[in-house]
Amino acid sequence: MFPRHILELMQCPACGNPDLGIGNRRQPDLVCEACGERYPFEDGIPDLIPRSTVQQ
Ligand SMILES: [Zn+2]
Repeated sequence: MFPRHILELMQCPACGNPDLGIGNRRQPDLVCEACGERYPFEDGIPDLIPRSTVQQ
């Protein structure tokens, strides 16, 4: 599981919400409940690139 104390240092890059949660899908990811953005883990490290800004 991702270390809680590191999770508490992170915030959503899309909206700035500091309260990110761990998703409960089969593939764990970080979830921002404020804006609904999800960040999948890549090799145990959350990929904090908002999908909404990547898509063109
Ligand atoms: Zn957010």
